Amino acid sequence: MNLESLTIAEARRALDSKEYSALELTNAYLDAIAKKDGDIHAYLEVWEKEARTEAKAADEAIARNDIQPLTGIPLAMKDNILIEGRTASAASKILENYRASYDATVTTKLKAQKVVFLGRTNMDEFAMGSSTETSAYGVTKNPHDTRRVPGGSSGGSAAAVSGTMALAALGSDTGGSIRQPASLTGIVGMKPTYGAVSRFGLMALASSLDQIGPLTKTVEDARIVFEAIRGHDPKDSTSLPDVTANDTKSRTLGVPWAFLAEGSEPDVLQRFETTLQHLKDKGYKIRDVLLPNLAFSLAVYYIIQPAEASTNLARYDGIRYGLSVRADSIGEVYSKTRALGFGREVRRRILIGTFVLSSGYADAYYRKARAVRELIRTDFEREFESVDAVVMPTTPSPAFTFGAKSDPLAMYAEDIFATPANLAGVPAISVPSGTVMRDGVALPVGFQIIAPHGREETLFAIGEDAESKS
Ligand code: GLN
Repeated sequence: MNLESLTIAEARRALDSKEYSALELTNAYLDAIAKKDGDIHAYLEVWEKEARTEAKAADEAIARNDIQPLTGIPLAMKDNILIEGRTASAASKILENYRASYDATVTTKLKAQKVVFLGRTNMDEFAMGSSTETSAYGVTKNPHDTRRVPGGSSGGSAAAVSGTMALAALGSDTGGSIRQPASLTGIVGMKPTYGAVSRFGLMALASSLDQIGPLTKTVEDARIVFEAIRGHDPKDSTSLPDVTANDTKSRTLGVPWAFLAEGSEPDVLQRFETTLQHLKDKGYKIRDVLLPNLAFSLAVYYIIQPAEASTNLARYDGIRYGLSVRADSIGEVYSKTRALGFGREVRRRILIGTFVLSSGYADAYYRKARAVRELIRTDFEREFESVDAVVMPTTPSPAFTFGAKSDPLAMYAEDIFATPANLAGVPAISVPSGTVMRDGVALPVGFQIIAPHGREETLFAIGEDAESKS
């Protein structure tokens, strides 16, 4: 069993032909975690005992020939997705001892397939960040260069897969939190169409932007996990009906060159062009697209996201969940609990969100941002009449060193290419696109594909063409 190159598809074949058992596979991953995670710190908690029990149950199912695509596959969960009876903290002190009282819908679906849950992974606190540095429980290191961040906010999930400490992982993506860490750690990360995967049991960050999605080694694996977790859910009022749009098979890609020129480092752009050339060689047509309002994505995102986050996080008040600081009055319980329980970035976003929603400023900021969000959505709609997908780098630069983006605006700029897909609600995937050199180390970068609403099949098909030649 070679964990380095192992994929879900390959493990499925080996498990079904009894080359090894789910328990042996799980033990191999638990060994890898024991060996490497002291340094990387992808996991906040490893569920060793439970994982073995789940692996045995999977082996019994396989023996009965009751096999589904993820039966016995060891997977890691981001710390903001609920599993009944287990701790889920969103890497925040305010939820340090919070135990989930129910399963997220994705958890229910994965349990039905008998996956093995290896543990919960580190993340930026409440998924706010692009480096996993805002976790209340220490940083996660990039397996490609431990002086550098793995990206975020799903940095633990990305490092677990990239560091071969899980075969796949779930993450959440509000403004790039699956795709950006996937890009920085050299794996595949996919954000589904808004509403394709239920958000029930995902701790809400910004409800109109959040989606759960897979982090995997290959596009094929991302498709397998997506198929397992997708589907209409009456418990999520924004969940879409179950419809699968067929792949269009025509292949025209749009590149918003004017937008890309804004922030990409030259060698990252070069890698992007190399992957683009491979696609051209495969018969793809490439067109320039304008998407004029993409330039406002970052500004719009950093108004809408904090606005929604500030209302969603109002529930952490010291009474209903987790941490509670004693005080003389109820008002003081709220303020002391929140001052102690939330980290700096979370407090900053709550302040920004409350400000842009306040009566004197909502017209100037929040409502304006929502109007521009509509323009971004229609920009995409218009271009998707003539192209099958829009492509761009996932991030403007490769993984950065710890502390390098301590200025919040520099950190936010990291999301420039990731936020448009969330604002428009369309599906997007990041696939590995080779490496660039920094300080003598080859660091991975990602090639991002953005498809029309509900067109995951097109996304995966193009993703497979892009990854095979990059
Ligand atoms: N980096 C972005 C932010 O800090 C995206 C986070 C996310 O997708 N959860 O908001």
